Amino acid sequence: MNGTLYVVATPIGNLEDMTYRAVRVLQEVALIAAEDTRHSRKLLTHYSINTSLISYHEHNEEFRSAQLIAKLQNGESIALISDAGTPCIADPGYRLVFCCRQEGIPVIAVPGPSALVAALSISGLPTDAFRFVGFLPAKKHGRCQFLEQIKNVQQTVACYEAPHRLLSSLADIIEICGADRPIAIARELTKRHEELFSGTAGAALEYFAQGSVKGELVILLGSALQRQPEGTVRDALLRLREETDLSWKEIVKLVAKEFGQSGSVVYKESLELRQEQ
Ligand code: SAM
Repeated sequence: MNGTLYVVATPIGNLEDMTYRAVRVLQEVALIAAEDTRHSRKLLTHYSINTSLISYHEHNEEFRSAQLIAKLQNGESIALISDAGTPCIADPGYRLVFCCRQEGIPVIAVPGPSALVAALSISGLPTDAFRFVGFLPAKKHGRCQFLEQIKNVQQTVACYEAPHRLLSSLADIIEICGADRPIAIARELTKRHEELFSGTAGAALEYFAQGSVKGELVILLGSALQRQPEGTVRDALLRLREETDLSWKEIVKLVAKEFGQSGSVVYKESLELRQEQ
């Protein structure tokens, strides 16, 4: 009988985010494959988990996957963890999971924290559909080429970024996507200095340029359609009335959508305007 590979999420900063199930699975498996065994030892000690550790990282993935598959085929169950968050999400693990699937070895997710999902959930940006692109390219040329590809995406685009590159990346985002592009930047999620910046790319650069940027970051770029509308609701109502043949009903609908406001609020404003006129 094959063993099972458990893909176990671990905290992204706050040790209390470990699930009961993650602790139990890590205690019960024969072996834990960890990205950095010294780093993970601290977490395991905190939860009195004495299971043996073996390294599994981007430099030994191929060779180690074969070894781990042999153990799984021998009936041993193994847990895969990364330094933080969910393995395989911008972290090693894909190759091992792929091999398990090919060999018919069961793979079970033990879900929990992921910086990507945590950031999206508090960003205030649309999350009904989003695109995750991993880390932004490190060099300017590659980054600008990449931003050109995503600048018109009509979904929230989520990426990981290193703190020492944030200012250059924001400058490139402004150059390619515009200073008015909505953006949210989640820093140090679940940790003491957690913060979420929300505004435009231009304002983000101004804010983060005030000091040295530290800690871990997720950048969320609002959809290309989501630019902050210019002027007030009243300006927009007047402009559309003057410049188009649309009915008041149609105008109210458009303006409500543009400003992200409820139809009834914009309708009330349009009534006041009509009375004044
Ligand atoms: N697999 C992990 C996950 O599910 O979150 C992500 C691993 S990736 C190698 C590490 C990157 O995730 C960091 O460089 C940072 O961009 C982001 N990240 C991790 N922890 C974070 C935190 N507490 N706050 C903000 N971003 C974080």
